Amino acid sequence: MKVYKFGGASVRNADGVRNLQKIIGGERDLFIIVSAMGKTTNALERVFEGLRQGDRAAAAERIAELREYHARIVEDLWHGPTKLDRVEALFDELTRIAAETDYDPRDAELWYDAIVAYGELVSTSIISEYLAFAGTPNRWIDMRRCFLTEQRHKDAGVDIEASAPRLKAALADAGGSVFVGQGFIGGAPDGTTATLGREGSDYSAAVVAHILDAESMSVWKDVDGVMNADPKTFPDAVQIPELNYLDTIELAYSGAQIIHPKTIKPLQNKNIPLYVRPFGDKRKPGTVIRGVSAPVEVPILILKKGQVLLTIRSRDFSFVLEEKLGTIFSLLERYRIKTNLVHNSAVNLSLCVDDTWHIDKAVAALREAGFDVMKAVDMELLTIRGYTEPLFLKYAQIGPKVFIRQTTQSTVRLVRKR
Ligand code: ASP
Ligand code: MG
Repeated sequence: MKVYKFGGASVRNADGVRNLQKIIGGERDLFIIVSAMGKTTNALERVFEGLRQGDRAAAAERIAELREYHARIVEDLWHGPTKLDRVEALFDELTRIAAETDYDPRDAELWYDAIVAYGELVSTSIISEYLAFAGTPNRWIDMRRCFLTEQRHKDAGVDIEASAPRLKAALADAGGSVFVGQGFIGGAPDGTTATLGREGSDYSAAVVAHILDAESMSVWKDVDGVMNADPKTFPDAVQIPELNYLDTIELAYSGAQIIHPKTIKPLQNKNIPLYVRPFGDKRKPGTVIRGVSAPVEVPILILKKGQVLLTIRSRDFSFVLEEKLGTIFSLLERYRIKTNLVHNSAVNLSLCVDDTWHIDKAVAALREAGFDVMKAVDMELLTIRGYTEPLFLKYAQIGPKVFIRQTTQSTVRLVRKR
């Protein structure tokens, strides 16, 4: 069994879907995980916003736009007016949720998941039907029934052990087939739909690969492979031919948009190689990620945006590090705040964290627990691994916008104002 993952950009239009079929070619014994088409998840987040703000008309309008966008793709794929019953039914369901839900802010995450999951349900329905139509028989898999997640929403982890028998049962008596499953979604123990965190389809594919003992996993992307920097920010970026799991986790955690950070562990545990390959050209080698790799020859630059810097001090002047660390981090964990860099002095603890929904609640809780907290917004975190003198001089100079600089022998990290 092989696992292929196709991201939203790869299937944003009918050409993309046709290309997906070309990539599959005659391949069988294949599990494909697909994201929502194009920017559908962002649009669904706006549907949710409509619900949250009590603006049902806005929510309905966003849904109508999405229905239209997918209808165009279907018509293009089937060369003429065509409606897929399953897709229509999904949009009807979504419309009903948006119209009938009595929104309660305490259930924000629950409703968020109920709504955004439709992106993947719709994309996989279209792709599964199109593959069958174009001569690739396949089985559509409902990942809400196969992935049992923890009882939480919006960023749930998959219980791999409990999911394994469910997924295997869903595949039973279809040996040698092509399977089509949704990325990003699973089912919570209470039966509701759970999502696995934005960009979580990579993680879905890795969990499938783990459970099915896949020989490899490939992520098909709109780039040639993993680059040492984002070419939009750093024009000299070059491709890295191979990476090991450990470096990849570090890179993903620092904010490199290669792969979702949770993806590597399920693969590493079973020593499954991960290929990052260009969607546009199957012949190009891409990047391979596995246990051992040749050393990376070039420095790697990663810019993580959307950061907040929290500076925390205990009001009674006790040493933050020795006495209070546990309290602080368990509060942050409660609000699901992800810490990307830690810096401390005797009484101050500075944390560079992702700017997320609950950040202000976390700050309030820290204040209530006896800390003074300063919050600086619009920050970004620059990481340079394997830096050279010229790169250091060029990017890592202290200036008015730089709040923190941490250097080790091979890595420099900067928290700075955008
Ligand atoms: N569609 C989801 C998102 O855009 C999951 C994914 O693309 O991996 O975040
Ligand atoms: Mg996506």
